[in-house]
Amino acid sequence: MRGPKTRIAVVTGSTAGIGLATVEALVKAGYHVVVSSRHEDDVENTLQSLRQKYGDSVVSGLVCHVGHKADRDNLVAHTKQLGDKLDALVLNVASSTTIGPILQTSTSHWDKMFDINVKSTFLMVQAFSSMLQEGSSIVIVSSIAAYNGLPNLGVYSVTKTALLGLTKVLANELGERGIRVNAVAPGIIKTKFSQPLWDNERSDNTINSSKNRETSRHFHIPLQRIGEVEDVSGVVAFLISKDAAYITGETIIMAGGASSRL
Ligand code: NAP
Repeated sequence: MRGPKTRIAVVTGSTAGIGLATVEALVKAGYHVVVSSRHEDDVENTLQSLRQKYGDSVVSGLVCHVGHKADRDNLVAHTKQLGDKLDALVLNVASSTTIGPILQTSTSHWDKMFDINVKSTFLMVQAFSSMLQEGSSIVIVSSIAAYNGLPNLGVYSVTKTALLGLTKVLANELGERGIRVNAVAPGIIKTKFSQPLWDNERSDNTINSSKNRETSRHFHIPLQRIGEVEDVSGVVAFLISKDAAYITGETIIMAGGASSRL
């Protein structure tokens, strides 16, 4: 049963991949988590399977395309019905709409990626602002690409660098309200989003397989494997937890040791 003291978390883009793993980590930590993505079927199926696994009251959800104002407003309205305070907000959605040299990127691709990856992240924080109170925590999902722009994914990489700046600015402004803002920067994590990077003749999709090690060498990953979603979700849950109470404005990189420097 969800009690009046149950902490509430919102994770955007949470019907698959890193978002879904983060929902599971937060449910296990005792949160009621609001699940959302663009497709109603995905939301319904995800809620059903999470409820079967963890119980009826641990999750709720709705459709929310983060780029649509009406959907963002609905997400806030849904969350307000659960309580006055939003304890944790995980901003996880990104879009990568084109592949190729940055100078050949059209302005429509540039605008789309900045709208979804950067502007909607900011607008979501703004929309939830009145529900963020002392002790609330925000985690923004950036990428190793923020530090070392990925070949042929230039604009996507620049949007992820922008999120590091947004994290700092929000942490500075919200610190006086006792609200923490941090980011995570995953390396290559095995999800549908990154499939073109790992699902090729160099990888057989199995942890510690020789092909996986070969892919890791190709991407210069000292730990010799592609990441799993739990490699990210555990760190997100830590950043939200009381154990991270004195951490704000930081970005934690989980990339198997791949080089990261701005
Ligand atoms: P994923 O497995 O493809 O999952 C993406 C999730 O977001 C799905 O639930 C999808 O559901 C939802 N989604 C997509 N576009 C959306 C939108 N406009 N509005 C709302 N929901 C949306 O992706 P992932 O790999 O977990 O990526 C999550 C985050 O991690 C992204 O910010 C990505 O940049 C970052 N990241 C990933 C990697 C990696 O290697 N996988 C590395 C570094 C950073 P619907 O399709 O139903 O909307």
